[in-house]
Amino acid sequence: MQRYFVEQKIENQFTLSKDDSYHILKVMRMSLGNQIEIVSNGKTYISEIICLEPFVVAKVVEEIEESQELPISVTLAQALVKEQKMDLILQKTTELGIDQVIPFQAMRSVVKIDKKENKKRERWQKIVKEASEQSKRTMIPKVLGTMTVTELLSLEDYDVKLLCTVRENTKNIKNLLSNIVEGAKMIVVVGPEGGFTEEEEEQFIRSGFQTVSLGKSVLRTETASIFIMSVVRYLSMR
Ligand code: SAM
Repeated sequence: MQRYFVEQKIENQFTLSKDDSYHILKVMRMSLGNQIEIVSNGKTYISEIICLEPFVVAKVVEEIEESQELPISVTLAQALVKEQKMDLILQKTTELGIDQVIPFQAMRSVVKIDKKENKKRERWQKIVKEASEQSKRTMIPKVLGTMTVTELLSLEDYDVKLLCTVRENTKNIKNLLSNIVEGAKMIVVVGPEGGFTEEEEEQFIRSGFQTVSLGKSVLRTETASIFIMSVVRYLSMR
């Protein structure tokens, strides 16, 4: 069943947004009596379409219990990378259960923070919303505003802070995460296409980030981010 996230409080019946109405009618070609899943405030409701115009109205049939979210909260601090790569990272890490994404400006990021920042963020938030609906999550990850490395270093409130690096003699992710406990809050930093500078890596390490290897081969930045989330998802399986 197709899933839609809505921000409003769900009463007995509710009106969907213009975008969702368009998707329901023109893309999914649904009609009166068809059912959709609505997620509001972490709760899922099976609902039936009762009106089509001007926007779709649905009424709640039943609330269902489900828990799709990972028991570990992961924030990905992703160095700014080219648009298509960022889109892919956002989409795939959302499917895999990411909680939050913080884009940041690394020294070697080819893409820089610019005046289109707000527009980009809107687009990124739309990508994670659609990926959450497609993968049937019960929450939409947050995409925060682009930070500098200094801003990133000042973030507290994480139990596990990892820096993905291709440096030799670094502990691998399997060893580091095998004992991670449910409820842990983790932040993982992934560098841009050209990698981190020595100086950046030293800054992260001085601020309490633990270096982590994802294996001996050098992965593309988008592969690294998707791989980390796959590992966390695998380790969370019961
Ligand atoms: N030549 C670059 C360097 O020396 O860092 C390679 C950068 S790699 C394409 C982009 C980012 O992905 C790295 O900065 C790192 O965060 C992550 N990464 C890629 N492969 C990795 C690996 N095997 N272990 C840990 N991190 C990795």
